[in-house]
Amino acid sequence: MIGQLSAKLDEIYPEMVTFRRDLHMYPEISFQEEMTPKKISDYLKGLGLEVRTEVGGRGAVGLLRGGKPGKTVALRADFDALPIQDEKEVEYKSRIPGAMHACGHDLHTAALLGVAKVLSEVKEEISGTIVFIHQFAEELTPGGAKPMIEDGCLDGVDVIYGAHVMSDVPVGQVGVCEGYASTAADEFEIIVQGKGGHGSQPHLTVDPLVTACQLVLNLQQIISRRVDPLKSAVLTVGAINCGSAPNIIPDAATIKGTVRTFDEETRTLIEETIGQVARSTCDGTGADCEYTYYRDAPSMWNDPAETSRVEEMAALLFGEEKVEKISPMMGSEDFAYYQKEVPGTYFFTGGENPEINATFPHHHPKFDVDERAMLMIGKVFIAAALNYLSDGRIRP
Ligand code: MN
Repeated sequence: MIGQLSAKLDEIYPEMVTFRRDLHMYPEISFQEEMTPKKISDYLKGLGLEVRTEVGGRGAVGLLRGGKPGKTVALRADFDALPIQDEKEVEYKSRIPGAMHACGHDLHTAALLGVAKVLSEVKEEISGTIVFIHQFAEELTPGGAKPMIEDGCLDGVDVIYGAHVMSDVPVGQVGVCEGYASTAADEFEIIVQGKGGHGSQPHLTVDPLVTACQLVLNLQQIISRRVDPLKSAVLTVGAINCGSAPNIIPDAATIKGTVRTFDEETRTLIEETIGQVARSTCDGTGADCEYTYYRDAPSMWNDPAETSRVEEMAALLFGEEKVEKISPMMGSEDFAYYQKEVPGTYFFTGGENPEINATFPHHHPKFDVDERAMLMIGKVFIAAALNYLSDGRIRP
């Protein structure tokens, strides 16, 4: 059955390319998606699926009920674009000034619609339900995953699969990562409140600049001295704003940074320790401090059993040499929110192809990927979903 469906997906590939290129020409950035979810829901309705629109705001969810009872699988694709001017020279280049699909979410969407089409044609033979989650606003935080979950997109779902194309991995490759696969990407801000005055009379002031400099250095000790060396974490101070003239001691300083962690324990430890270090450093100079920590998406946890399933399906579909185990990334992905609710896995497919200039990094003005990556995503989605619903009986 999977062989037939893969062949069917190959057959409708031109249609997927057309859909992808249409999205690529008319990108809509996060939280401004209007036509994109409409195009998606129209397509899903055309296939005879039950469709919910405006899920969690701008999401679209299609429901394919199989002919026989069974469990429920969710497949997720994101559909937002980025505020980047497209600088590629291709006929499907963005027609919208300052907006571009520079991360491949247009391909994710077209791949998932292709899967919906192929599976809808054999729905009588499917035991269980397949939920197609088309998510808005993945690029911004808080993004679309959380409100879509709160609006019920995972109701009744037993397992979820998601995927991302990678422009730095050759087309044809599949990457899987078991366990932690991305970090929580949090941000913090510390306002050091001193007492400004004349640069010639430091004894009459509380200097927030000197305090902030000490604080930035003290923060470096959190990873090296407080976090378990066997845990991975990053703390980067990316901005310090203070002062304007050589002879003025300023009144306040602002420090901003990012924290990347995998497990919740380390995340909480760092959140609390930044506060302690900020307070004690400021106490040492007589400054006050105001500390805010913003929690973004948690880290992705790729369920080991589901990751093995995807790895096995990909190896059977494309050959073992096409599948590799990859390291977790220090970036974040709000697919993590779905994985807090149900087990699932998020895998990667290569899209790099120097022959068509698809070599630029994600979020670059010349970003592009080989569209055949859609076939890889689609075939793995189909195989993983049917394998799960048949308790492992249906195999490529
Ligand atoms: Mn992305």
